[in-house]
Amino acid sequence: MTGNGNIFGAMLQEFDSAARLMNLEPGIWRILTSPKRQIIVSCPIQMDSGEIEVFTGYRVQYNISLGPAKGGIRYHPDVTLDEVTALAAWMTWKCAVSQIPFGGGKGGVICDPTRMSRREIESLTRRYVAEIIDAIGPDKDVPAPDVNTNEQVMAWIMDTYSMHVGHTETAIVTGKPVVLGGSLGRREATGRGVMICAREAARHMEMDLRGATVAVQGFGNVGSVSADLLSKLAARVVAVTDWKGGVYNEAYLDIPALMDWVKEHKTVDGFPGGHPLSNDDIFKLEVDFLIPAALENQITLDNVHDIKAKAIIEGANGPTTPDAHKILHDRGVFVVPDILANGGGVTGSYFEWVQNRHGYYWSEAEVNRQLEEKMVEAFGAVLKTALKFKVDMRTAAYIVAIDRVATVTRLRGMYA
Ligand code: GLU
Repeated sequence: MTGNGNIFGAMLQEFDSAARLMNLEPGIWRILTSPKRQIIVSCPIQMDSGEIEVFTGYRVQYNISLGPAKGGIRYHPDVTLDEVTALAAWMTWKCAVSQIPFGGGKGGVICDPTRMSRREIESLTRRYVAEIIDAIGPDKDVPAPDVNTNEQVMAWIMDTYSMHVGHTETAIVTGKPVVLGGSLGRREATGRGVMICAREAARHMEMDLRGATVAVQGFGNVGSVSADLLSKLAARVVAVTDWKGGVYNEAYLDIPALMDWVKEHKTVDGFPGGHPLSNDDIFKLEVDFLIPAALENQITLDNVHDIKAKAIIEGANGPTTPDAHKILHDRGVFVVPDILANGGGVTGSYFEWVQNRHGYYWSEAEVNRQLEEKMVEAFGAVLKTALKFKVDMRTAAYIVAIDRVATVTRLRGMYA
């Protein structure tokens, strides 16, 4: 469940384990555990009924030492400032692990877009952007899609910002439709990065990805593309669940057919190519790879003991609580953490921003080639650190990230 519990506290626990091992000095520790800016706005919207509703929105710029804040905007009823702050911190570490010149940001609006009309969502998007307009910009803070926001929402963000500044500014937001300055391959980039991490994990574990079994929780932009690309590498995706239900086929699921089904029915539930499966049961399956690609706090002390997967590739942000993660690590489960595993998305966003600023657009093959290079490099750096410090991949990813952000913080010095 998103917004539940102390998510920022979980981020701090992860941070502390790494910072302790690095002997991080207390001053830098304090800076890196404090959000730079937290913005709270009220967005009044006239609903289709004629009623006026006021929605609360947040934008957090956690750290901008490496460059403009970068991170998505989510629309969800359970959004909280605590959650958005944790997500903005994770973006900071993710950009640093991926070696892209961005800081970390995140936005969220408390709303339930599944119960809103297209016009209401558009009005809310435009008003939210107008409320945070002074804080965002191609050199300041660059939003992107996240849970329940998509290319259309990004187009409205770009348009609203452009109307305010008086010219078309494509680099204000990433994840745009390709015809509006979006990048080829961006939509698939997060799932592609997850696939690359699963492939690299298999190589490290000396497992054959061909024929390996995979379970995917969540079939949105991340889960569906991960499943599709892994099945193209001849892995057997045997189970998929989403917000409504799930489907299991012990041989394998026909992912292209499942994607067609979801286009029509908006859920994997009821797909005729397998048996029904509950969201709880997907965690109990004896599979090689488990890919949580939904929301935070999915793997907890309540279900960690049921998990039989050999490796977990975190497509979502924060799907595993710190105490559950410790148990998995002690049991020898290889966990590729969110700040590495789903970094393909923001890396694709970086490529989009670069193309917007150059006004020169790359082929999809070029985007995928550069993404492959960045992901393999990031995976390699984290694995090397994990082996050197004899720690799990999450702690190692934090060590890599903290080291990079701490280095620029020391170089830049204090302005006071
Ligand atoms: N929302 C995505 C994430 O959590 C992408 C962020 C971006 O591209 O800026 O990584």
